[in-house]
Amino acid sequence: MKRLYSSHNTVVLDQVSEALDQAGIACITRNMNMTGQAAGELPPIVCWPEIWVVDDAEFEPASRVLAAILESYENPGEPWVCKACGEHLEGQFGSCWRCAAASLPPE
Ligand SMILES: [Zn+2]
Repeated sequence: MKRLYSSHNTVVLDQVSEALDQAGIACITRNMNMTGQAAGELPPIVCWPEIWVVDDAEFEPASRVLAAILESYENPGEPWVCKACGEHLEGQFGSCWRCAAASLPPE
């Protein structure tokens, strides 16, 4: 078993573990509830939630799944304007937060 990723951002961790599930890669999470007093005197990084890949043979494909997700956060894409309501949106949003219309490819 190998540790794939550790972050204080449980939103990203949830997304990674979900993507691994969908890819059929067995993984487990640790420390997901290590917050507040449970963390005690430990340095914060020790308590960060972690994702472990159960089968070492699946570590490489799991790393690619992780890299793709992290890349989507670093390169969220171009800002876009909703064609349905005209709302200006950041690139990381795949659909309009105001009217829920999906982002359409450029014409
Ligand atoms: Zn809209």
